[in-house]
Amino acid sequence: MLDLVISGGRVADGSGGPLYTADIGVAGERIVRIGKIQSGEGRTRIEATELIVAPGFVDVHTHSDITILVDPRAESAVRQGVTTQIFPNCGMGLAPAVGDARADIAERVGQFGIEVDWKTAGEYFDRVRSVSPAVNVVPMVAQGTVRMAVMGFSQAEPTPAQLEAMRDHVREAMRSGARGMCSGLRYVPGGYASREELIELARIVSEYGGVYASHIRSEGDNGDWFDAIDEALAIGHGARVRVQISHLKALGADVWGKSGRALAAIEKAREQGVDVLGDQYPYDATSSTMFVLFPQWCQEGGVEAFLLRTADAALRADIESSFTTSLALRGGGDRMTVSEYRPDPLLEGKTLARIAQKHRQGVFETAMSMLETSNGRVSMVFHTLERDDIERIFVNPRVMVASDGSAVAPHGKLAADYYPHPRNYGCFPKVLGDFVRGRKLLPVEEAVRKMTSLPAEHFGLERRGRIRPGWYADLTIFDPDTVADRATFENPREFPAGIPYVIVNGRLVVEQGSHTGNRPGKVLAAGEE
Ligand SMILES: [Zn+2]
Repeated sequence: MLDLVISGGRVADGSGGPLYTADIGVAGERIVRIGKIQSGEGRTRIEATELIVAPGFVDVHTHSDITILVDPRAESAVRQGVTTQIFPNCGMGLAPAVGDARADIAERVGQFGIEVDWKTAGEYFDRVRSVSPAVNVVPMVAQGTVRMAVMGFSQAEPTPAQLEAMRDHVREAMRSGARGMCSGLRYVPGGYASREELIELARIVSEYGGVYASHIRSEGDNGDWFDAIDEALAIGHGARVRVQISHLKALGADVWGKSGRALAAIEKAREQGVDVLGDQYPYDATSSTMFVLFPQWCQEGGVEAFLLRTADAALRADIESSFTTSLALRGGGDRMTVSEYRPDPLLEGKTLARIAQKHRQGVFETAMSMLETSNGRVSMVFHTLERDDIERIFVNPRVMVASDGSAVAPHGKLAADYYPHPRNYGCFPKVLGDFVRGRKLLPVEEAVRKMTSLPAEHFGLERRGRIRPGWYADLTIFDPDTVADRATFENPREFPAGIPYVIVNGRLVVEQGSHTGNRPGKVLAAGEE
């Protein structure tokens, strides 16, 4: 007897091959039959005529490392059809929680009432297991957090002993099942690492067959985009490690229209033997901290040191001039909206230009006073990407779909999530509804491949990412005629439409468009199946 039969659906099996009609039988956690299955053979039967049955989506770039502990139902993820999330990313994680990193981690999780009862990456992965998440989790180790644990916010080169300590942290994480190391070189202190330092750490990742995933040093907003891509590729060469370039985008006036050159560099590196892929979120706006408008040198030592520097007139003038350049590159204060500012939530949703005008101040003075009053915690949405670049990157076969968001929910402790960007709720349905059905940029089979087998293979996820007998029953069932995102920048917390069923490890997590409460996800540690 089968536990579940999905009958009559059109199967997009994850390979990119054409749709075919078949019934799918699930027993326990696995897909056991594909073909014609008689009614009466399954305990539960889902009628999927007119619907597409796909492997569950793998969100290759997320930031759910805190939110999964707060609300393991992962509702904004599963309602999009996501059955596996990879995190942490951008170099910022929750382990190792030692040294200077411990206080930083304690502050970030403390606002949700969570106590830091782990130290190593392995202990953090166990903490994730202990909450029984609704989605599968692919664990990573964060280079910025490793550097903070060993060297705090110092901009210095590591001593041999410090380098060895960082390598030890990375090794511990990889041994505990991490599938790679993420870096966020646009942020401090991770960005203080040199290319050579990163290669040293990435060699350990390579020993364990992991991926080096990087938010590169510049996306056109902070120096040369192509140099930053070359650096990621050079790390791939130097450490013989697989590479993932995170959230590929042409960010700002200097690089608009040049995404073809970036994609060509990736293709060339592949020809030279670097196994490199990219990922992308399908939106024209980015979301980040206000600090991305400020140079990294002025952030050495953390927020307090930054504020002290800005009290010095000469330094302040230097900082302002660099800020003004960044602001112009991103198209000015009209293109950036405050998304989180706890001291005055009424400013959330307003542009920086508008706030400055209201306060009769310059944009720099406004940004400075917001950073002072919030102790450096201001989140922003930057409307700085061009449609042509987004579409050119999307159709490239080396690029996956990723939200760059977090698993949240419009209720409970996560209702006021700190990066309210619609991608948390709408990324995958936006691709299927807007990019595939609306703009017809790619056939649905190929879009599904970019969400399933492509990431599963790159990160070495065994028996996931395709619909095949014996493979895990991570499945997403959607209506190709109605699937759509509904979250917008104005109303970012809306669930999508047209995804009635989502199955994780053989169990229904979304049924008729609602969360069932089931939490069958696993930590997909390397070395375990
Ligand atoms: Zn990033």
